[in-house]
Amino acid sequence: MATITINGKVCEFEGSPSIMTVADANGIEIPRYCYHEGLSVTASCRICLVEVWAPNPRNDNKVELIPRLFPSCQTPAGDGQLVYSNSEKAVDNQKAVMEYLLINHPLDCPVCDQAGECHLQDYSFKFGRCESRFEEDKIKQRKKDLGETVWLYSDRCIMCTRCVRFTDEITHTNELCVIGRGSNEQIDLFPGRPLDNPMMGNVVDVCPVGAMLDKDFQFQQRVWFLTGTPSIDGTTSGGDNIFIYHNEGQIYRIKPRKNMATNKWWISDEVRYGWKFVHCEDRLAQPTREQHGEQVPITFDHAYHEIDEQLNAIVREGGTIAAMISPMLSCEEAYLIGQYVRQHHDNPADAVLGLGPVPMEGEDQTFPPTAKADDANAYTIRAEKAPNARGVQRVLNGFAQLDKADQSGSLDFDGFIAAVKKAKAVILTGNYPSEWMTKELTKALSKKLVILIDTLPNAWTPKATFVLPASTWMEKSGTFENVNSLLQAFERSIQPIEGTRPEGQILTDLMAIADGLPLSHSPRFSAESVRSAMANTLHMQEFETDVSIPTGGGVICEDEYEMALTTI
Ligand code: SF4
Repeated sequence: MATITINGKVCEFEGSPSIMTVADANGIEIPRYCYHEGLSVTASCRICLVEVWAPNPRNDNKVELIPRLFPSCQTPAGDGQLVYSNSEKAVDNQKAVMEYLLINHPLDCPVCDQAGECHLQDYSFKFGRCESRFEEDKIKQRKKDLGETVWLYSDRCIMCTRCVRFTDEITHTNELCVIGRGSNEQIDLFPGRPLDNPMMGNVVDVCPVGAMLDKDFQFQQRVWFLTGTPSIDGTTSGGDNIFIYHNEGQIYRIKPRKNMATNKWWISDEVRYGWKFVHCEDRLAQPTREQHGEQVPITFDHAYHEIDEQLNAIVREGGTIAAMISPMLSCEEAYLIGQYVRQHHDNPADAVLGLGPVPMEGEDQTFPPTAKADDANAYTIRAEKAPNARGVQRVLNGFAQLDKADQSGSLDFDGFIAAVKKAKAVILTGNYPSEWMTKELTKALSKKLVILIDTLPNAWTPKATFVLPASTWMEKSGTFENVNSLLQAFERSIQPIEGTRPEGQILTDLMAIADGLPLSHSPRFSAESVRSAMANTLHMQEFETDVSIPTGGGVICEDEYEMALTTI
């Protein structure tokens, strides 16, 4: 295999990757501004220049210094090369580039949202000079309103053109361009054409300095107060890998987490801003029961006991229980709901289990628009706006197979509506970010005992026999199966909003009460333990072997979670 030595480290490579790609693969940091893995290479910022020694075929392949610096982002790695990004010449260049970039850059780090995660700050510290020789006045440029969600603070821009290339190469919407020359060069919109595409938030992510700013996040938090928990998008079926940034139980923003099997480097704006319902004022936060046409507050403990009694009475009289499992819930939660309903019947196969409605919006939209959805670097906005329809269906199929029914035994939403008519009691789960109740379901629920486990009020909330407030995916852990059958686990980012419980915990509690245990003895829901139980009970080993677990970032600790539940 070919080898290249970068800063003294011998690195193997195949094919003809750039020197920078080999360095990245071997954990060697070479500074860069204009280079981004997902965009074309322009080699314009010049901070990644390296010193290269290469075998000279005209001198017996003796390794000789090539007397100029090379952009490591653009120069292919060669067998036998010696490369230095830390030689005197390379470091002098890095310092010169930093000094040049900082000539007109305002010293407004104290009020800049990027401070704390700014490449200019970091490289200034690592590769810059400690003083400026520039005595003239800095050129000032105005702040520009680029569109609904993005500001451009022009005088912070270092003209790396990542944002321009993003709109040219990924969205093909071409809203951004470079105008002017020399020190008057700047990024601007094409006249009369605001930044307006479903992926535009990514221009903020690709900007290595604080020039492109997210209006939604601006001045909300200093980034060093935020914890970034690795997670999976809970609003669409793509399984986009994300970081959820939060502080003291409040979500502030979502950023993409690179995963070449799902979202590559990007997320759509609906994924970026789709979490707002988590902190919505309308969140259900009090268990209630229906009494004389009104919902009256009760405790979780009280509700659990009443539910258990009423479900037992229904089954004793020969009635059946149904459960509609929302595609917004995790596989673990789907399993617990199934187990709970089935264990109430002498013959578990009598339980009616079905998938909730799967919201669809338009058609899949792939970027770049010329790419196919399965192309290596393509990103697709999914028309299916639920994270786990396939995972819930997989669990339902598992139950159907236990009953020796074929997989058509597991019900989709239409099948559930038809089958629910025979049930006397129905457990409904929601967790959708907007209204999800349909006319058909409303009709089918008439005169039944309805236990609604949900996060936001819907058309049936005032009429439900019991309402149990649940937690969104950001407040719990679990597994989603994306549109390409990829099983991905996610961890809890924030504590459950006060007054709510994760569905997994609600079902664990209900099962403890059904077993005659007091609520205080109900075990804490653990997604990992439930996955093991699924592997054993449903013979679905994939829940132990094929679930990808996110690593890194911050997860709230068990003590904090325990406290959040006991204060409910
Ligand atoms: S706004 Fe940011 S991404 Fe765009 S050219 Fe300037 S520095 Fe680069």
